[in-house]
Amino acid sequence: MTRVLGDAWPLPGLDDRNRAFFTAGVLMLQQCKRCQHVQHPPEDVCEACQSFDLGGFESAGAGRVESVIVVHHPLHPGMADIVPYAVVAVALDDVPGVLLTGNVTNRAPDAVAIGDRVEVTFEEVVDTANNVTLKIPQWQAVDG
Ligand SMILES: [Zn+2]
Repeated sequence: MTRVLGDAWPLPGLDDRNRAFFTAGVLMLQQCKRCQHVQHPPEDVCEACQSFDLGGFESAGAGRVESVIVVHHPLHPGMADIVPYAVVAVALDDVPGVLLTGNVTNRAPDAVAIGDRVEVTFEEVVDTANNVTLKIPQWQAVDG
């Protein structure tokens, strides 16, 4: 599978906080075990109650495009063939207040609009340098 933003786009660096998000193959967010607050991106501490006791929350991965921009200028020479591409901020149905960024994989950039319904999909990439298979959350537009 060709990566949405091409092979020159850097892969995420994994740590204990974000490993589940980038490898689980489900939309795994961080949830506080004390107050149940769900947050993203993952942090060392709950932003609501400052607890360090954090676990996972599996989102159903359905949401709405809250914002969209179209990038026309390649940020890296390796991306010259990728532009234009759309970057979206998605509001999840089951986690109010959390926005996730990504790309819509099944629509032309200028056909992505605020209010579009999307669901999570995963871009599978083998990070050979770190010997791990990444499943990077992306978005696909759905009708309705
Ligand atoms: Zn908390």
